[in-house]
Amino acid sequence: MRQPFIAGNWKMFKTVHEAVVHVKELRSVVKDVEGVDIVVAPTATALHAAAEAARNSNIAVAGQNCHWERDGAFTGEVSAAMVREAGAEYVIVGHSERRTLFGDTDQTVNQRVHAALGADLVPILCVGETLDQRDGGQTLAVLDQQLKRGLDGVSADHVASMVVAYEPVWAIGTGRNATPEQAQEAHAHLRGRLRSWFGADAAERCHVIYGGSVKPANAASLLGQPDIDGALVGGASLDVAGFAQIVRAARLGA
Ligand code: PEP
Repeated sequence: MRQPFIAGNWKMFKTVHEAVVHVKELRSVVKDVEGVDIVVAPTATALHAAAEAARNSNIAVAGQNCHWERDGAFTGEVSAAMVREAGAEYVIVGHSERRTLFGDTDQTVNQRVHAALGADLVPILCVGETLDQRDGGQTLAVLDQQLKRGLDGVSADHVASMVVAYEPVWAIGTGRNATPEQAQEAHAHLRGRLRSWFGADAAERCHVIYGGSVKPANAASLLGQPDIDGALVGGASLDVAGFAQIVRAARLGA
């Protein structure tokens, strides 16, 4: 049985101070919530402070990206080991903003996945099609390619522990979410591929979560779908009360 998984991607928002205030407020609002994995992903500069603010609570923290080398001459990058040392348990890899704006490819996403696993971080691997690809009937083929290449060389045991986030690019930050039926179709497809490539056990244990304009108003219908195990929430995660409502919707849908 997969426990619902709700993660907030703060993108490039919140200073260290704002992040600490947010986590302190959130931990008091969700302290009674059991049976939901609650994760926040602050910027790299706020990671350590946010992890300290979340210590001994039911909130974990995630990095938003990691480099595949342990250290070296890679100006501006942060390694998986550094993200782990800062207090994160998870790391987002292959977010569409990274792929579109910063040149991440399926190959570098795969390198980041391996680095994360090697640093004892759980990767949250993002996959998703653009609007042109959806309109061109290529959605499932795009998902297959991103999933297969992103997980190249990863063991079934590791896949079982991972999180895959289906994030249609056209739904991210647009206010236009996938319908529950569209999302369920993609999630069932992804789980089927995990089953063929990594076996039934890995497919049943791996979390497949949805991201793209999740809000308190649409969370319950999305999270009520059988193959939607949680949500990766961008804009709506910046507000404590709204994010907490999504967390509660996940608990009710479980
Ligand atoms: C995201 O950044 O992963 C995301 C899903 O953003 P939003 O919820 O704002 O669409």
